[in-house]
Amino acid sequence: MGIIIKNLNFIYEQNQIFKNTDFHFEDNKIYTLVGPSGIGKSTLLDVLTGFKKPQSGTISYQNVQKSEMLTIFQNNQIFPWLTVSEALALPFKIKNISKEQTDSRVKELLKIFELEALAYKRPNALSGGQLQRVAIAQGLTLDPKFLLLDEPTSSLDQEAKEEIQDRLLDEQHKRNNTMIIVTHDIEEAAYLGQEIILVANQQLNKLENPTFGRENRRHSLGFYEFCILLRKQVRQL
Ligand code: ADP
Ligand code: MG
Repeated sequence: MGIIIKNLNFIYEQNQIFKNTDFHFEDNKIYTLVGPSGIGKSTLLDVLTGFKKPQSGTISYQNVQKSEMLTIFQNNQIFPWLTVSEALALPFKIKNISKEQTDSRVKELLKIFELEALAYKRPNALSGGQLQRVAIAQGLTLDPKFLLLDEPTSSLDQEAKEEIQDRLLDEQHKRNNTMIIVTHDIEEAAYLGQEIILVANQQLNKLENPTFGRENRRHSLGFYEFCILLRKQVRQL
């Protein structure tokens, strides 16, 4: 079950990004995708959602439709003229979902993401961390089975970053969906990824994360030892 990539070849003009690449994204897991800038992380997300077509290879979607996948893009922009609650209601409007259902779901999301006090504010009145919370809440409105997030915390300070990371872990745990989170931050990859995918040499290299789910990881030496190991692996590739 999940998404199975076989023999993927993706090339931009002369630039081969993936070469005979295989990978199996399983259901109900949280993956982090780590690797240097320009290696192909965002491209992979676009290939998974069907937005970009590979030159060859197969991608089989088992138990998931493309319509049940959603990407939160890097530097996600909320429409400047919409308030936070209007922004959260937008995906429902597009799908013609009833006002009652929309209102109750928007209310729930405002609560989960601590946005109630900001419900009637527009983006220009929000901080980077608040905007990012709105973007992620908006991504969760229709409860996608596969949620793809492209560097969701890259513009945030450490405190806001950690808050978003914990929120993402909670939501994945509650919803049992699959999340694929792109990051270039080693510590974030180790904190969020049940499985960590190192993108290198036109391949997707999987690394199990033995520290995933351990309590109080941010305060444990074992977690930082794993970060050191991961950093070495990324450098070696
Ligand atoms: P990452 O997300 O890992 O930083 P990308 O997937 O955005 O990397 O890009 C991978 C490589 O492909 C980069 O060298 C980038 O410049 C190039 N690239 C991205 N999009 C295009 C495009 N539409 N046409 C040509 N080259 C592209
Ligand atoms: Mg990118």
